[in-house]
Amino acid sequence: MSSKDTQNPFEEIQKQLQEALRNPNAKLSFHGINPPPVEPKIDSTNISDKENSKKNDEVLQRIKEFNLKPREIRDYLNRYVIKQQEAKKVLSVAICDHYNHVRQCIENPDLIDKEYHKQNIILLGPTGVGKTYLMRCISKLIGVPFVKADATKFSETGYVGYDVEDLVRDLVKMSGDNMDLAQYGIVYIDEIDKIAAASNAAGRDVSGRGVQINLLKLMEDTDVNLFSPTDIMSQMQAMMEMSKGGKSRKKSINTRHILFIVSGAFGDLSNSIKKRMDEAHIGFGSGSNTSKVSESIEYLHHVETHDFIKYGFEPEFVGRLPVRVACDHLNATDLNDILTSSEGNILEQYRMDFSGYDIEFKITPEAIREIAEKAYLEKTGARGLITVLEKVFRNYKFELPSTGVPSFEVTKKTINDPDKTLKKLLKDYQHTHHDVMGRDIASFSKRFKQEFNITLTFDNDSRDLLIDIAIKEDKTIRAICEEKFRDFQHGLKIVSRNSGQNNFTINKDFVMNPDKELSQLVVESFKNKTENTEG
Ligand code: ADP
Repeated sequence: MSSKDTQNPFEEIQKQLQEALRNPNAKLSFHGINPPPVEPKIDSTNISDKENSKKNDEVLQRIKEFNLKPREIRDYLNRYVIKQQEAKKVLSVAICDHYNHVRQCIENPDLIDKEYHKQNIILLGPTGVGKTYLMRCISKLIGVPFVKADATKFSETGYVGYDVEDLVRDLVKMSGDNMDLAQYGIVYIDEIDKIAAASNAAGRDVSGRGVQINLLKLMEDTDVNLFSPTDIMSQMQAMMEMSKGGKSRKKSINTRHILFIVSGAFGDLSNSIKKRMDEAHIGFGSGSNTSKVSESIEYLHHVETHDFIKYGFEPEFVGRLPVRVACDHLNATDLNDILTSSEGNILEQYRMDFSGYDIEFKITPEAIREIAEKAYLEKTGARGLITVLEKVFRNYKFELPSTGVPSFEVTKKTINDPDKTLKKLLKDYQHTHHDVMGRDIASFSKRFKQEFNITLTFDNDSRDLLIDIAIKEDKTIRAICEEKFRDFQHGLKIVSRNSGQNNFTINKDFVMNPDKELSQLVVESFKNKTENTEG
């Protein structure tokens, strides 16, 4: 058995499906698989489909009338992305050129056949500095679909892992099957440096080279089949569409107007650029206070085509990526700026998360600075901010929603010792915590009434005892009540049937010995009933 056989057990089914797609009259003979039922044709377009299609039409109209200027895109990016001024400029120009060309081709289809060098882009720079974020912001501004994948996921054949053409099919999915919109989308491929086919002892890395070749075909002008030949589900879908006999969908999408961005850290590349520049006695005047990291990124700004080829990229592949720009390293001050001035930054999210529980979240400038300093030590760019905030606030997010704390202020102390400050906060708000638990008891009682039409009235002693137990056992009031009173609906229904009583006062004894007290009530109700009937 070849390795391909083991990797693709559906080969026979696929072969027949492919045959059927080529020849709709061909008979299928799958053992154990029934042909999909013919579905009745109904108009399944619901409101949200209609809304989406209206939105898509608006975006298409915007592309047809594309008139943004590079400065406008740069200004938009400035609202969200801190630093990276060079990248913002270069990307703004590339995006305007690309979508102006798209507009011109729509206005004058003859242009499609004319030679045009697409503005595909290589973004270089360390992790978490905003490479993806820049492109996501741009795709949001224009409204075009955006897909991102790691180059390491691809295999040459597509049988193991992901096929590069799947990226284009994903764009179609992202645009709600709107092929017109998908053809103007943006594809972002990260970790491209990992498929550089650098020479090694065993010769060139064949698979990386194969993926580069597949990608370069995609980056040009090629038709991608919407139904993946290696994906059984996709083939089944194609069959279903055929058997429905409805209006058949366009089966392929052209990649001519899809913009491709590839990115990577290219850590080692800076060494070879440095060597080249040293040999040519070119310096760029790094100051004495330039750190090692920013110095190595500084070299990436000077990358040239032959550096990429030496690194292990095929010349044709690099040739399809004419726009190159490096993103800078973010220092602690940049991370501080992200938290204070980038729109929609991660702190905003925390503010929203707490306000979802009616808790006001305040934070001092010193605390923000401390978060930035700690995040910087993580060495993962702005991603470090998420790591630090998650660690600091994980217990706050767990505890505060149940305590009735109306607001809290995060200080430098909170960042350095979150558990200690949380403990103090919980102590300060013990009284409101009790109030919240009191309300939880009332909610239990309300639900009981709604479900079983029986009123449970908890007296003060029973309420205090339930709250004490909940605190001691570190459980919610709901869990305690459901545990203690789980048989009450059955027992009290019997009592109610016997006596007509629908309202029961729950005292301390019921909380301490629920089963004993309930049985007593039931027994008494039978006793009273018999006495009444005899009497
Ligand atoms: P990468 O450079 O690895 O592609 P991302 O762009 O995915 O990093 O950054 C991760 C997250 O960090 C972004 O979604 C964004 O919230 C934040 N971020 C990164 N860089 C910046 C920046 N320069 N300005 C504002 N936020 C940033």
